[in-house]
Amino acid sequence: GDRTARVDGGSGEIGELARSFNAMSEKLAETERQRQAMVSDVAHELRTPLGNITGWLEATQDGLAEPDPHLIDMLLEESLLLQRLVDDLHDLAQADAGTLRLHPEPIALDDVVEQVVNAQQNREILLRAETTPVHITADPVRLRQALGNLVANAVRYTPPGGEVVVKLFRWQDEAILEVTDTGTGIAPDDVPHVFDRFWRADKSRSRRTGGSGLGLAITRHLVEAHGGAVSLTSTLGEGSTFRISLPA
Ligand code: ADP
Repeated sequence: GDRTARVDGGSGEIGELARSFNAMSEKLAETERQRQAMVSDVAHELRTPLGNITGWLEATQDGLAEPDPHLIDMLLEESLLLQRLVDDLHDLAQADAGTLRLHPEPIALDDVVEQVVNAQQNREILLRAETTPVHITADPVRLRQALGNLVANAVRYTPPGGEVVVKLFRWQDEAILEVTDTGTGIAPDDVPHVFDRFWRADKSRSRRTGGSGLGLAITRHLVEAHGGAVSLTSTLGEGSTFRISLPA
């Protein structure tokens, strides 16, 4: 039920106080609703991989499944999923608490792009970089993570034979990183939600492809912590461009 406290103060100074009190308690109630939703989402995300692990181990114990390399592969895959989820939650918790520390240093952004693109090469998609030398002061580990999430998504949501291009250039006082894919694209109604925690366009598909639904929320936090911004343009069925701008 609605547990928001309300004060009716009429007009004048008391009225003003009452209005700001009411606004404050509504904000608290909203924060509490968000916290409850977050706990419920986390429990939901943990349930499936843990259930699978328990199920396979029980089946093995009961002699219904063989303790063979295939089983080990499946168990490992589920535990890696859990590990990624917990790492992502930890990053977001630190971001919320304001304890996510950046370690800025002078870096060549083209090196960051090269590392991300090399790490995510795969047989099914043409992944390439178009860079110009751009030097900024930033945390290289966290930028690799932020850009890595965008590139992982671009690869994940692009069918085999498609293309992903990572561009780096300078524009006015900014360094711009753009990740463009020829993938599924995002519906206009969905665009405002993609950076929300646990939001996915298609829950079943994303689960199969191993996403936690936290990647873009983390990317936005990391970029904003650097004083930058992320944005998105997309056409359903044609592809998407995610853009990071950083002060340079
Ligand atoms: P996930 O782990 O599910 O990929 P993200 O936070 O990284 O979580 O992304 C949230 C959702 O945004 C995805 O589930 C997907 O529906 C959509 N999305 C993200 N990147 C792309 C992309 N490049 N193309 C199409 N859809 C995307």
